[in-house]
Amino acid sequence: MACRQFDLVADHLQIPESERSRIKFPKRSMTVALPIERDDGSVEVFAGYRVQHHLTLGPTKGGLRYHPDVTLGEVAALAMWMSWKCALTSLPYGGAKGGIACDPRSMSPAELERLTRRYTQEMIPFIGPQVDIMAPDVGTSEQTMAWMMDTYSVHMGYSVPSIVTGKPVGLGGSVGRREATGRGVGYLINRSMDTVGLNSSGATAAVQGFGNVGSVAAFSLAKYGIKIIAVSDVNGGLFNDRGLDLWKLEQHVAQKKTVAGFPEAEPITNEQLLTTPCDILVPAALERQITEANAAKIQCRILAEAANGPTTPEADAILEQRPEIFVIPDILCNVGGVVVSYFEWVQDLQSFFWTETEVTDKLFRILEGAFVQTLTMSRKRKISMRLAALSLGVRRVQEAKRVRGLFP
Ligand code: GLU
Repeated sequence: MACRQFDLVADHLQIPESERSRIKFPKRSMTVALPIERDDGSVEVFAGYRVQHHLTLGPTKGGLRYHPDVTLGEVAALAMWMSWKCALTSLPYGGAKGGIACDPRSMSPAELERLTRRYTQEMIPFIGPQVDIMAPDVGTSEQTMAWMMDTYSVHMGYSVPSIVTGKPVGLGGSVGRREATGRGVGYLINRSMDTVGLNSSGATAAVQGFGNVGSVAAFSLAKYGIKIIAVSDVNGGLFNDRGLDLWKLEQHVAQKKTVAGFPEAEPITNEQLLTTPCDILVPAALERQITEANAAKIQCRILAEAANGPTTPEADAILEQRPEIFVIPDILCNVGGVVVSYFEWVQDLQSFFWTETEVTDKLFRILEGAFVQTLTMSRKRKISMRLAALSLGVRRVQEAKRVRGLFP
């Protein structure tokens, strides 16, 4: 998917063949075997990956994912998207992504700690605050980052908070980092509503995924006066046309670890959620949710891609024939997370910490700039928001590679 998208962008930007592979190929791809002792005394070997897409503009940046479906190819695609995402907002980073093929839901905290420390240890030759900086992604959290920071710091002999972002605030994390992606999604949806002339009072939203991104996005939309009529997670979904009480739902999730079974709603499937009539549809889970099979059936005015890669290229072709749907493409929609990761890294390097108001103001200013640039390009060239956002990102990487030149 990522390569096909890149080819479309390269055609649009008329990037010469001689430069294409140089921009497309990941610079470094690592696979590591991670043997750990399970709580029952047995030893299991997990596969861990890290792909650093390009190192042209500074260190690489991107999350670490724990999920049974993680493969090297998926990680490479996610790393490439991180490159365009960072370039779209002019962050001084290349993209990266990492992952471990495991099911974190079936592992104890002690097993997860051993796995995380083992992975960090294996990655030590390839990471560093000026080389590659990890952050949370699907299945990882602030705690994961704390273990990584500790493992790296013990190896160096002194504390190195800037080795990861998305850490607990008490360890050098940034205030507002945990909420950043969801808050950014909320800001961009609100901005898009102005653009398409949709009034927030009475507007409805359906959110797929109720993790760190989906739940914060839902709360942020509710703050703008939007009614959340459907949410879902891996165990199923909920629907209530009068709007879900998010505070009660949050308490339910804290106890049951899932949205399923929430009493004040009807159960629905994830597939039903995606085709629920609503003003705003927010896929905030995994890739490839909006496909050829359901793209013609989605019934929203704004599609806000909070997840990475939720829409397949085939679905995209269908959406391009549906101008009534305004798409906020993933690399723009969820960029708030990595923007505040950048703020966290800068604060760590300077050992000088900002207030939440400073973080949020600076975040919204960057999002506004990226939104306006993408919208302007999309309108001027009569291209989709996705092609516009990707073109802005790819072009910046292309220009940087061109002026740096090819080392003999
Ligand atoms: N995992 C997040 C993403 O996909 C955040 C990455 C980061 O902050 O480095 O954008």
